[in-house]
Amino acid sequence: MDIISRSEWGARSPRNRQTVSWSQRTEFVVHYSEGPTSQSVRSIQDFHMDGRGWADIGYNFLVDVKGRIYEGRGWLVIGAHAPDHNTSGIGVCMIGRDGDATAAAKRSIRWVYDEAVRRRGRSLKKLGHRDVYATSCPGDELYAWVRAGMPASGSEDDMPSAEEIATAVWKHKISNQFRTDGNGNPRMVAAEDFLEYSDAHHDAVMARLKAQGAAIGELSRALAALAADRGQTVDSEALIARINGEIDRVSAQPDAG
Ligand SMILES: [Zn+2]
Repeated sequence: MDIISRSEWGARSPRNRQTVSWSQRTEFVVHYSEGPTSQSVRSIQDFHMDGRGWADIGYNFLVDVKGRIYEGRGWLVIGAHAPDHNTSGIGVCMIGRDGDATAAAKRSIRWVYDEAVRRRGRSLKKLGHRDVYATSCPGDELYAWVRAGMPASGSEDDMPSAEEIATAVWKHKISNQFRTDGNGNPRMVAAEDFLEYSDAHHDAVMARLKAQGAAIGELSRALAALAADRGQTVDSEALIARINGEIDRVSAQPDAG
């Protein structure tokens, strides 16, 4: 994954910066912005610098619901996100409110964690902001995920199962140009409708073939009886076989209709 750099999101310069070494990093603190998911990183920075009077945006990184990762203060600059844990903790904020965290956002938070661990060379304590401060941050849903160990897949709630995907495809309606409603507009049909149609169609064709077969047999036997009346012999079974052979020959032609 890529981290969107400060210059890419149009960050203002920090008023000052204080760095730590990797050995001082022992914690990873998850936050939410408690604002709209559409909020820009720059507007969060403006609020932190102008509204709160901080030196820079408070977090080390931010993640949006599409899974994009933004550089805040970065890996080794002391943040302003959790009192007494700004030196030990890397603070990552999900842009949104409780319940907004998508599987993509969670995957990205996890990616930042794994990258921090890789750089640090040891695991970091996974914390929600509320673990170290009296706050509802990062919201119940994201906090439960942190407590569950920040599973990377995010599949528990957000990712449909293979079976759910298969069912959705099966029921997904598409416009069928060959089947129109009373106004000549294409009907919306799903794959499962095609199967039903196909079954019904198959049954109708088979019934018709059966009826035709019976008729051919009847006609052949009537012909044989007529021939017998005139003192001639007709093998009705051979006649039926001959007629069926003709039908097969005609049916095998692509344009036989
Ligand atoms: Zn927080």
